[in-house]
Amino acid sequence: MRAIRVHRHGGPEVLEYEEVPVPEPGAGEALVRIAASGVNFIDVYHREGRYPTRLPFTPGSEAAGVIEKVGPDVREVAPGARVAYAMHLGSYAQYAVVPERLLVSVPHGIDDRTAAGAILQGMTAHYLTHSTYPIRPGDTVLVHAAAGGMGLLLCQLAKRAGARVIGTVSTEEKAAVARQAGADETILYSKADFEAETRRLTNGRGVDVVYDSVGKTTFEKSLGALRLRGMMVLFGAASGPVPPVDLQILNARGSLYVTRPTLGHYTADRAELLWRAGDVLRWVADGTLRLTIGGTYPLADAARAHRDLEGRATVGKLLLLPD
Ligand code: NDP
Repeated sequence: MRAIRVHRHGGPEVLEYEEVPVPEPGAGEALVRIAASGVNFIDVYHREGRYPTRLPFTPGSEAAGVIEKVGPDVREVAPGARVAYAMHLGSYAQYAVVPERLLVSVPHGIDDRTAAGAILQGMTAHYLTHSTYPIRPGDTVLVHAAAGGMGLLLCQLAKRAGARVIGTVSTEEKAAVARQAGADETILYSKADFEAETRRLTNGRGVDVVYDSVGKTTFEKSLGALRLRGMMVLFGAASGPVPPVDLQILNARGSLYVTRPTLGHYTADRAELLWRAGDVLRWVADGTLRLTIGGTYPLADAARAHRDLEGRATVGKLLLLPD
């Protein structure tokens, strides 16, 4: 089969398109023929070595496809079933072996590309808005990179929960896309001081929660954009990791809360995974949640997809197609 392989950490050029053997499923595992693989920022962190991975490896943490065969002790899925999964390395390939406990069935009416594009970021937007900080009607929320894959889903779910949504974006084009997804106001954080602008938009009060996936360049001002006892949800590092923080700043800025959550810990047991995946796929099927696929690339062009994502050139979700 064809797969993208990483033999050394580095830039997009280390993503090599190679012939490798089709893997064999072991106990509790299934072999999935991949129809589409989602591109996520975590793939960049793996490629660069920011998140430790043993070399060589096949990147990619999310896909949808069809079960080709199953190993011993697999009970819930059978060959021919349509499935999607997230948070398991190796999806930039024609086939991947995946533990059964991570697989969810894809309902009729949702095509493979939509399932592949919705599962990881959809479950993330779900836990961020329902569990990390359960949004209440009347809350005001700040979403950074609001036209990105995560951003567009967060805007929609925050709006659905009854919040006023302020989104930051780098261009006017992205601002228009974020507003279509439910952002009430947008701030061009590449030009304006988003902390001051957020304070102005909230009459000096600040927002109830910041969803910050940009990290290094936004973290400190995000704290300044919060209300007293507001919640800072740092869930990514698109601009780089946040340097060490003196916790005293939380007192000085208003008895703030900070958390750094990750999807794996919010889908740690099967029931929780099925709850979030079930909600996301149902909302996508009934139109409650709109997935914007901003670009599709042949699997061989994974490096170009990474360059576009890191270059801030994309909106919504990117997919790799193996055939
Ligand atoms: P996006 O589509 O959001 O792309 C990243 C966006 O970040 C860019 O389009 C850009 O938007 C913005 N950005 C700001 N500064 C930079 C910079 N220096 N370099 C690159 N981009 C920058 O990506 P994803 O939707 O895949 O992921 C968004 C974030 O969510 C990532 O940080 C990822 O790690 C995180 N994430 C976290 C999860 C978790 O459970 N913790 C799970 C899933 C994703 P603009 O041009 O508008 O500034």
